[in-house]
Amino acid sequence: MAYRIGIDLGGTKIEAAGLDAEGALRLRQRLPTPAHDYDGTIAAVATLVASIERDMGRAASVGIAIPGTIVVETGLVKNANSVWLNGRPLGHDVEAALGRPVRFANDANCFALSEAADGAAAGCGTVFGVILGTGVGGGIVIGGRVLVGANAIAGEWGHNPLPAPRLPDEWPGPPCYCGRTGCIETFLSGPGLAADHRRHGGTTIDGPAIVDGAAAGDSQCRATLDRYAERLARALAGVINIIDPDAIVLGGGLSTMRHLYVDVPQHWAQHIISDTVATRLLPPTHGDSSGVRGAAWLWRPEDLG
Ligand SMILES: [Zn+2]
Repeated sequence: MAYRIGIDLGGTKIEAAGLDAEGALRLRQRLPTPAHDYDGTIAAVATLVASIERDMGRAASVGIAIPGTIVVETGLVKNANSVWLNGRPLGHDVEAALGRPVRFANDANCFALSEAADGAAAGCGTVFGVILGTGVGGGIVIGGRVLVGANAIAGEWGHNPLPAPRLPDEWPGPPCYCGRTGCIETFLSGPGLAADHRRHGGTTIDGPAIVDGAAAGDSQCRATLDRYAERLARALAGVINIIDPDAIVLGGGLSTMRHLYVDVPQHWAQHIISDTVATRLLPPTHGDSSGVRGAAWLWRPEDLG
């Protein structure tokens, strides 16, 4: 049984973790991301791998979570907010630097994989992992492996239209940076939550302040959180009707809103084409570690012999 290294290649820092043969996280290291420096970014990854292998005393497989996608046909990165990676053959160059095959996945897929492997959804056959943060993303894990898809966008539900939109504020809905209107992300991201609060007469405050306000008895904040939960239920029902997951795990900053785990399953039943709903809605187990852990799990123990 081999050791595994997972790397989370973020915009400001590169985090690395070493997992032992049982999947336990043995050590973590980090370096600042060399911004706008492609060669420097690869060198930093190589430095971290060498350092962790030295400290663990053995070689390891390497998986990397990236803030975008590697296009299958070309091997080039696209959609990375670390823009200096876009259009570059990152997979090829990292493998050349490390002298071994390396697996890559976007950060939402790594989150889903981490929670499916040994987190909140351990033991579940089909898992939908959801990121509710600055943006809205998602990843699908089936039988312990990430579903990539023909276009490498499997699970990317944030720019679907919000299902069953209600007039007047949900249709055509707020404009989205992607060029469409009424995307799920425009309602369910952190900025989307704050904007919805303003549209309904609230003050200009962010998500945590809205949660605090609701806890303090502010009826306007409470109503905003209720609208959020009901919309999340509609959006997730659309996913359940297609992939019918055993579990949905929420991640990202907005996943800390406790009311979601009670209210959303109550709302989603009416939109799901089944008399009973066995799908569980779960908070994450691994939190900030999901990127490095999921990246390490891109190599399954059985892959390594
Ligand atoms: Zn959009």
